[in-house]
Amino acid sequence: MQYAPLLTKSKYLNGLQCHKYLWMLLNEADKIPETDEGTQYVFEQGNLVGELAKKLFPNGKGFESMGFKENIEESQKALFLRVPLFEAGFLAGRVYAKVDILEPTEDNQWNIVEVKSSTSVKEVHIQDVSFQKYCYEKAGIKIKNCFVMYINNEYVKNGEIDPVQFFIRKDISSEVEKETIGMEERINLMLKNMSKREIPDIKIGKHCNSPYECPLKEYCWDFLPENNVFQLYRGRDKAFELFESGILSMKDIPEDCELDEKQKKQIYCEKSGNPFIDKKGIKEFLNTLHYPLYFLDFETYTTAIPLYDGTRPHQHIPFQFSLHIIEKKSKSPGHFSYLTDGAIDTRAVIIQKLKELLKDSGSILVYNQSFEQKIFTDLGEYFPEYKQWVDETIKRMVDLINPFRNFYYYNSKQKGSASIKSVLPALTNKSYSDMEISNGGTAFLKYFYVTYGSLVGRKTTPEEVQQVRNALEKYCALDTEAMILIIQKLEKLVTDNNFTTLKIPF
Ligand code: SF4
Repeated sequence: MQYAPLLTKSKYLNGLQCHKYLWMLLNEADKIPETDEGTQYVFEQGNLVGELAKKLFPNGKGFESMGFKENIEESQKALFLRVPLFEAGFLAGRVYAKVDILEPTEDNQWNIVEVKSSTSVKEVHIQDVSFQKYCYEKAGIKIKNCFVMYINNEYVKNGEIDPVQFFIRKDISSEVEKETIGMEERINLMLKNMSKREIPDIKIGKHCNSPYECPLKEYCWDFLPENNVFQLYRGRDKAFELFESGILSMKDIPEDCELDEKQKKQIYCEKSGNPFIDKKGIKEFLNTLHYPLYFLDFETYTTAIPLYDGTRPHQHIPFQFSLHIIEKKSKSPGHFSYLTDGAIDTRAVIIQKLKELLKDSGSILVYNQSFEQKIFTDLGEYFPEYKQWVDETIKRMVDLINPFRNFYYYNSKQKGSASIKSVLPALTNKSYSDMEISNGGTAFLKYFYVTYGSLVGRKTTPEEVQQVRNALEKYCALDTEAMILIIQKLEKLVTDNNFTTLKIPF
C-alpha cells in the first residue's frame, strides 16, 4: 500500500517558492543536485545555534533523535509535563511539523519559539512559523504567541558565549496571524499538486531566486542560449520583461529597447563581436596608481557563533593573505603570503605582517574594495594600536573592479559580470577553471573543514590537510597575480595603437 506524502514545513516553504520544485522533490528527486558543502555548512551552523538556544530552556525535553513515529507518540505524551519541548512533532492529517521550542505558558497554552542563525527576522521565517502554528492548532495544541529567536549582530564574544546576550527574541504573533490568511487553501493546493502524475507547468521567473536560489535552476534554465538576456548588467527586471516577450538571446534585443548606457555597450559588443575600450577612462584610472604597487587579497571564514574573543557573529575572520609587490615600473613582482596553520586566531600576526609589508606609501590594489576594507576596519577596531595605520592604509586602496564596473572595458566573454573570475579570462589567456580551489567560498569551506573539523563526522588525514593548504596557496596567489595581469593588459590597451576607443553609435 502506498501512502500519500506528508507536507512538512520545509516542503511547504519549497512549495511556496514553486509548486514545480515541490513536485520534483517528491517525484523526481534524482534530478535535484546533492546538497553542496556550502549548504551543508549553513545547516551545521544552524544546528550549533539551535543547541546554544536550548541553554535558555534548562529544563527542556528533547525529541530530536527520535524517528517519525516515536517522535509523534512521545511528543503527545510529553504535553502534560508542561516543560519546554525541543522538536516535538505533531501530525494533523497530511501536515506534519516540529518546532524548535514549544514553550509552556502559565495559562495552559504554548508559545512557538523558532531559532534562526540569521541576524534579522525575514519574511520566510514568518511563513515558516505560520505553517507550524497551523499544524499544531489543527493537532489540538493551543498556541498563545509566536517568537523568533535570532542572532544579535552586535554581540561581541568575551569568554564563554552568553546565550542571553547572543539572542534577540522577537514576538511575531501579529505577522503570523496575517500570514495565516489563506493558509488552508495554499496547503490543500500543495497536497493536491504533490499527488498529481504530471509535473506542474511552471515557467522560470523571479521566484527561482527568492527566497533562495532554487537547486533546480540548472535544470529549468538549461534551455536558455549561452549569451542570454539574463546576463544584462544589473538588468534583472528588464531581462524578465524581454523573456516574457519571447526574446532570449542578447543578440535579439531590438535597437529601440530601453537600456542604460552600460547595457547598450554590452549589446553592441555582443552584436559586433568586439570588446568595448574606453582609453580615456582606463588612462584616468591608471593615473591614480602610485608606486610601489601592492596587490592584496584576503581569504576569510565566518561562523554564526564567534570562535574568538573580540569577534561578532558572522564576522569575516581572515586566515590567509596573498600580496604581490611591484616596487618600480618595469620591475618584477615579489610575492608574500600567509596561511594560518591550525585552529588558532592569527589576526594579530596578519596585521603585524601586513604593516611590515605594506609600509606607508604606494597604491594598494584590491578587487571589490568593500570586502578588504571591512577586514582592515575590523582589525583596526580590535587592535587600537594599529588604528591610525589602518585608517591611512584604507585611503591608499584602489579598487581594480572600477574600470570594469564603469565599463571602461567590456568584452562579451564576461557575460555581464565585472568579477575577477570573469574579467581575467576575458582579458588574458589565464583563468581559474583548472584550479583545485577556484573561488573564495570553496577556499573558506576547505580551510574550515581541514582546520576545525566537520560536524558530520568527516575525518581529515595529514595528507588531505597538506593538499588543501597547497591548493589554498595557489588559489590566493592567483587572485593577486590576476590583478597584475589585468593592470598590464589595461596599460597595453591605452598605449597600443592597435586598440582604439570603440565608438558606440547611440
Ligand atoms: S528553477 Fe524555478 S521553475 Fe524550476 S523548480 Fe526551481 S523555482 Fe521552479
